[in-house]
Amino acid sequence: MLRQNSTESLPIYTLILQLHKYCDGEWAHLVKSSGVDDDAMNHFLEYAAQFLGNLGNYKSFGDVKFVPRCSKADVEKLCESANIEKALRDQCVGGMFVDDTASEAAMLFGFPDEGHISGYYPASPGITQDEIETLGAFVGSKGLLPENTRIRKTTDGDYDVLIASAVTHPPASDMDTTQTAWTIDAGPLSGKKVNLVYGDHQEEMAKIALNIKKAAQNSANDTQRAMMNEYAKSFGTGSLLAFKESQKLWVQDIGPDVESNIGFIETYRDPAGIRGEWEGFVAMVNKERTMAFKKLVEAAPTMIPKLPWSPDFEKDKFTPPDFTSLEVLSFACSGLPAGINIPNYDDIRQTCGFKNVSLGNVLSAKGSNEEIPFIHADDLDVYRKNRDAAFEVQVGIHELLGHGTGKLLQETSTGVFNFDHRNPPVSPITGKPITTYYKPHETWGSVFGATASSYEECRAECVAMALACDFAILRIFGFGDGTTDLHSQAGDVLYAAYLSMARAGVVALEFWDPRSGKWGQIHMQARFSILKTFLEAGDGFCRLECNEASSGELSNLTVRLDRAKILSHGRPAVEQYLQRLHVYKSTANLEEGRSLYEGKTKVEGEFWQKGVRDEVLRQKMPRKVFCMANTVLSEDGSVALKEYAATPKGLIQSWVERDV
Ligand code: ZN
Repeated sequence: MLRQNSTESLPIYTLILQLHKYCDGEWAHLVKSSGVDDDAMNHFLEYAAQFLGNLGNYKSFGDVKFVPRCSKADVEKLCESANIEKALRDQCVGGMFVDDTASEAAMLFGFPDEGHISGYYPASPGITQDEIETLGAFVGSKGLLPENTRIRKTTDGDYDVLIASAVTHPPASDMDTTQTAWTIDAGPLSGKKVNLVYGDHQEEMAKIALNIKKAAQNSANDTQRAMMNEYAKSFGTGSLLAFKESQKLWVQDIGPDVESNIGFIETYRDPAGIRGEWEGFVAMVNKERTMAFKKLVEAAPTMIPKLPWSPDFEKDKFTPPDFTSLEVLSFACSGLPAGINIPNYDDIRQTCGFKNVSLGNVLSAKGSNEEIPFIHADDLDVYRKNRDAAFEVQVGIHELLGHGTGKLLQETSTGVFNFDHRNPPVSPITGKPITTYYKPHETWGSVFGATASSYEECRAECVAMALACDFAILRIFGFGDGTTDLHSQAGDVLYAAYLSMARAGVVALEFWDPRSGKWGQIHMQARFSILKTFLEAGDGFCRLECNEASSGELSNLTVRLDRAKILSHGRPAVEQYLQRLHVYKSTANLEEGRSLYEGKTKVEGEFWQKGVRDEVLRQKMPRKVFCMANTVLSEDGSVALKEYAATPKGLIQSWVERDV
């Protein structure tokens, strides 16, 4: 990962660990011996924590370089005092900072010929985007997948395709191609040589392959064992066909107690978008939550009829989407996701399927004294106590009964309909028979296009807001006895769910771009429209409180909800919105659907566009950095979990003791 980031990342990593080891984690000693002041030391530790959290000196979210707040001279003093070798210092201290000669472009990941930085094209500053793309297509035509590769342009102007593997000369039977060298015979790179060079990241891939082999010996079942063996083959020999086999087996390993995945997975950071970043995780299934999800699926036949549409707009048989909730033990990656949906290979997704997983302890992670902007002091206590529970209810309903419901009325092939087209269903919106439906070969995505994904997230969120009001559902999650009572514990959870949605609608404005008037995040766009729905529910159900200066600047902005009106005002308002979203989707009614959704997600007026948005940006929380636990295997075969303080020092220590 470090090597995939920037040239200085691996040396910076080594430096941080060496400094820790030199002072044995007693950083105060280093303050004394080096003569830097406490502020400088703290700034360096904060930098180290950010660096380890992002596994490199470019942000995982944004791809921008970040630098320490302390000075270069301070870092030099620390190195001096800890006897850090000059060679290592030369490789990293300069690269940690930005000097006057540095170009703006070098602050960003991107194609090297535009002056940007990329670890996927080592020692090839002049390589152009065209060369990279032509090579990608050429190598692809030879049957080689790109995820575990990097490209190097040689001094002769030829190209090495570096393949991550433990061996430099894999046996022919384990290779994805029979040849290892070609001369390109056509196109702009005609006459250039392309060589496959195995053994990129050799030392690491060897360690990984060896340990994966050991994991195979301790597998819980045959599928996992076969999966581990395919991993070992892939990381040992560089075969991505073996990796694809591992991923097919992973999908087939249904509902294991311990879930893991590792490899070159996501391609966001390669400017060409085809090379994968290394990552790996181990997580445990949250059994309690899984049980609640199971009960929710069982309750679906009694719950779905409570939604505001007739059976005409619903599937004959409820088929819940695949969804599991995991708790992460350790996730090695440049930036932790809140959920994963892999493998990315389309052919595997179509033939074997995929896993859709939410990471519970990532979603619920908070700093010790984290503030909660936009929640009123009167609500803070109940919000703090119930927000995780509320979120669990919301996510469960959203994923299972939200995305799992709905029928697309369609002419499946010419003259064949999946509904009674002579006597079409009556729309609950107009009270008249529907007139639109999907034509043969049309899909939800093809009809609704760019609107589809956010619209569908909104529909699922509205289902969650509607059904969270049902105390029988709250009971399934372990809150209350099913009796409707807004002032019970279950009522607190419901209130927190509504507060949380309203607050998300405010925070959403961070993701709205005033210049283009567009939304950059589909879920946040949806939540903004739900907040609007709350605000329009009438009778003061929901309102924003704030102080407004004559300049239009807002302060003390909070969302207020009348708990007593959730069932009488909140739910009906959401259901009315949901009904329209649902029926327009079901009936391929793009015109009405798009106009509804665009209207509801439109940010209008100075108050929202500037007042609220500016305040949201002022209150923006820094992105979290996660401190992972380690496991320690004892002589007697028992395993201990070692956790660390959620501080920069704790984070550094966790990496030192991970001993990778
Ligand atoms: Zn969703």
